[in-house]
Amino acid sequence: MPQCQFKPQRARLTGGKPWGTELLLWGFLVFGSALRMMAQGALYPILSNGPATNRINLVLLAEGYTSVQRATFLADATNVVNNLLARPPFQTYRSYFNASAIFIASSQSGSDHPSQSYFRDTYFNSTYDSYGINQLVTIPPNDRDADYTHGQGRVEALLGALAPQYDMAILVVNDLLFGGSGGGLTITSKSSASSQIVAHESGHSFAGLGDEYGDPFPAFSGPEEYNTTRETSRGSIKWRAWISPETPIPTPPTSPYAAVVGLFEGAHYQPTNWFRPKLDCMMRTVGRPFCEVCSEALVKAIYRRVRLVDGFIPAGSQLVAAGTQPLHFEVSLVEPAGQTLAVRWLVNQAVQEGADGVSLMLSPLALGNGVFQVRCEICDRTTLVRDDPEGLLRQVLDWQLEVRLPVVLKLEMPGRLPDGRVRIGAAAPAPQGFILQSSADLVTWEALATNITKLGSFEFIEPGTNRVPRFFRGFVPGH
Ligand SMILES: [Zn+2]
Repeated sequence: MPQCQFKPQRARLTGGKPWGTELLLWGFLVFGSALRMMAQGALYPILSNGPATNRINLVLLAEGYTSVQRATFLADATNVVNNLLARPPFQTYRSYFNASAIFIASSQSGSDHPSQSYFRDTYFNSTYDSYGINQLVTIPPNDRDADYTHGQGRVEALLGALAPQYDMAILVVNDLLFGGSGGGLTITSKSSASSQIVAHESGHSFAGLGDEYGDPFPAFSGPEEYNTTRETSRGSIKWRAWISPETPIPTPPTSPYAAVVGLFEGAHYQPTNWFRPKLDCMMRTVGRPFCEVCSEALVKAIYRRVRLVDGFIPAGSQLVAAGTQPLHFEVSLVEPAGQTLAVRWLVNQAVQEGADGVSLMLSPLALGNGVFQVRCEICDRTTLVRDDPEGLLRQVLDWQLEVRLPVVLKLEMPGRLPDGRVRIGAAAPAPQGFILQSSADLVTWEALATNITKLGSFEFIEPGTNRVPRFFRGFVPGH
């Protein structure tokens, strides 16, 4: 039987809260192998933006919905997804997410409210009033039911059977009262206010963000997170890119500094000696927007899972061009909302002027024979990220192209233009560097021109009108 233990991480819903009650949300982590049980239920797509391998996959599970409430669940699950993805910074990256819903019927609708002696027979046996806190909604094992197979085990079995590629699992409880909890599994009621819990928990589960609470919690320990630190030297603060020089360090927790990033004391469940980036943030007060530093962490976390390029052609990275047909390179990109990704193309490190779209055409004739590196660089230049030493917001694709055209020097029959000047051409692919000469006696040859085009067709027009009959020849030096 897997062990269950408390995760010393809690979301406290305070200040400015629409529900007016201080609430501790305890998360639960279940360790051990997934329980083997017969999986039931069915999977329904509710947001499809691309391949599961290059998207963040949200999976929502139905709790307390009866067999006739499937449509209600799918609508509620869609609302949970929309509420999360309407919130900055997810709003910009909505197309980086997929979402699907697992419907599993409960015998009765709703959830347990033990404080009101109200009990429902539901599939995951969820309950409010966990550990004496009204809005703390959990599933077993918990203080009401220690049997893992009644709750967490069922979640794991369904996810393993129907959605093994999930990145974040959310249990939607068919109850209008505000409530939920976090940890390995996020639990939310269908109340729209509960979407705040989903957002806060996504900060933990996507980006490993820490809680910015400053109230003491003796059992809590652990390393610094992206948004918490003990560092007080301005030049060494990890979010220093966001701190303007005139902001005092540490930063007074007063209204003049409410809108700026600084170094505010109280974070990581420590009232002193631990610091957070902003006076307030979703990771401190559920219901607030994410601060700049937490937003940056979330965007980077999204880019750890989703690459900018969904696909590209040509598929292989080693190419040979033996014909003169133009070569077509193209990338298909994920697109953030309201901003365009920066794209540039390079051939042998030279930027191709004007090529800033998703495709590039290259002419083997224009390149000439040889080996070329063709590179596509894509970058998200969002202002939401200032510090990206790992280059998460950038992607580079490389192809090696060998142009191997058969080179034939074939002079066309000389002719005269209407004004009397002599014209002589060579069909493509004419070798670069061949020399065109003329002679009246086949003994003395006079150089007329050297072909400097790369394997293209060649044309020479004599400057004057020379009426002397002559022979013409072309040759490549050294051949
Ligand atoms: Zn924050």
